[in-house]
Amino acid sequence: MSTADTTVYTLADLETWSRPGTHLAVLGRPIAHSLSPLMHNAALAQMAARDPRYRDWHYHRFDIAPEDLPRALAIFHEKKFHGLNLTAPHKVIALDCVAEIDPAAAPAGAVNTLTWTAKGWHGANTDGHGLATAIRETLDIELRDSHILLLGAGGAARGAAGECLQRRCASLTISNRTRPNLDALLDAMRPLAGGIPLSAFQSFSPSAFLIINATSSGLRPADEPPIDLAALTPRPLAVFDMIYNPPQTPLLAQAAALGIPRANGLSMLIHQGARSLEIWTGETIPVEAMRNALQEARESETRRPESQNPKL
Ligand code: NDP
Repeated sequence: MSTADTTVYTLADLETWSRPGTHLAVLGRPIAHSLSPLMHNAALAQMAARDPRYRDWHYHRFDIAPEDLPRALAIFHEKKFHGLNLTAPHKVIALDCVAEIDPAAAPAGAVNTLTWTAKGWHGANTDGHGLATAIRETLDIELRDSHILLLGAGGAARGAAGECLQRRCASLTISNRTRPNLDALLDAMRPLAGGIPLSAFQSFSPSAFLIINATSSGLRPADEPPIDLAALTPRPLAVFDMIYNPPQTPLLAQAAALGIPRANGLSMLIHQGARSLEIWTGETIPVEAMRNALQEARESETRRPESQNPKL
């Protein structure tokens, strides 16, 4: 099995798909940038070395338009793909296409991991697990009992907010560029809050926050940070940015300049992927193989001339 399959498959490829083996895939648009095949195939290669059952398992990427998702999922099911990951813009729209949904995924209102069953797709969400594990691993902070300031109100923020509340954070404060989107997220999260204080961000806070950036601001180097860390009183405890490429966003650069502990989203990417593979195989996943594959890809990208960089 190759760990370097860079093919981007299409709906037309799926329609004529007849390859033997056990197949997994990530679906998105755009998808060419996705690192999921690299890290999943690295883990599968290591698993195959000790268990021959995994020698014919392959993880692919498919470029699927949102309007084609229902039809594509029906064909993936008919072709008996064993599992699928969903990335933007499919995580929410796929909810209407699954036969059953993991109860833990329901509050997020989004699924990123589908597993083939005879009845149809089973939907789960591993982003929350990835986030909580990454924050523990990189910042040594538990979501439980933390005061959290969440930036953003899109799909990733929705999953993060649900995870923070399910893990009983001390308080959850949310900030977003567009107020109606923020209000919609607050409304969706209120039933989960129990007694946990849940509110829109104001300029003053009585407690130091762990900041989680779930906006896409920072994907481009020229982006303004989604919040001015220097203006916050008291200073944040730490900053976790879900973005992993670029590895240092303007927000993380500001945190570095202020001496605030910080981490990017690479660890989250690894742990959400490892949990998906665990769901599909029932095995303990070689997380380090996934991490090493991403690390090697990053190192080879930095060695290449700029014009040949395939952007991680
Ligand atoms: P969405 O498009 O659903 O949401 C984008 C959010 O970012 C919205 O809240 C939007 O605000 C806000 N936003 C966009 N541009 C700006 C800007 N210039 N300034 C301030 N806010 C802005 O995206 P997702 O929620 O799916 O993803 C968000 C980010 O999280 C992405 O960068 C993605 O790569 C990352 N991510 C990382 C993962 C990982 O494993 N590390 C997993 C999942 C996501 P508004 O409501 O105003 O439009």
